[in-house]
Amino acid sequence: MLDKIRKIERIFNQLEKESVKFGKQSGLRCLTNCDICCRKKGLEANVLEFLPFAYYLVKNDLHDAALDLLDSNPEHCINLAKTQAPGQTAGCSVYEHRGLICRLFGFSGVRDKNARLAVYTCSLMKNEFAAEYKQTMERINSDLDIPVVSDYYYQIYYIDPQLANDYNPINVSIRKAIEKVAYYYEHKPVRKSGTKPKPAIEKEL
Ligand code: SF4
Ligand code: SF4
Repeated sequence: MLDKIRKIERIFNQLEKESVKFGKQSGLRCLTNCDICCRKKGLEANVLEFLPFAYYLVKNDLHDAALDLLDSNPEHCINLAKTQAPGQTAGCSVYEHRGLICRLFGFSGVRDKNARLAVYTCSLMKNEFAAEYKQTMERINSDLDIPVVSDYYYQIYYIDPQLANDYNPINVSIRKAIEKVAYYYEHKPVRKSGTKPKPAIEKEL
């Protein structure tokens, strides 16, 4: 389990570097305090991309509180649940542990049927940074590197195809990831000679 989580985190770290570089070179950026894409109705994710987040919760004994929050059926992603009052836009509360879709949207590219790249982003960014967007659409097909959505999904797919194909509304995937990680560590004791079994998570930290 930890091996899979570390592999996903390595991919996320690589993506972070690429997307930060792309943001700087393209001049594209999110609007201040915007979290509209996190509030999109029907936002979906797969279970695999939330394993690192689930591990963070289990490691810090925060998973029961997260499950309680999920039980309250928040309208949007659980990580915005505390800030869903109208007008409050504090953004993602677990930015470091967010999923792959959260990392890609806005700062990545998708290919069309002719293999031409287009920026995978929102209409707000397109309108606010119209000149940068127009120029970036040309440059990503010539001299500007951009993280490509399908490349990153392929990379995580090979870590665990079953969990990578398990797509659900985002809170359902978060719940499944938490349950999976919590169950794994609750049922995998590590026995050291002459000592009581310890939860595997203590050994792996
Ligand atoms: S990608 Fe667009 S909608 Fe999402 S936070 Fe950035 S500016 Fe807002
Ligand atoms: S995990 Fe964070 S970035 Fe992703 S949808 Fe939820 S609040 Fe938004």
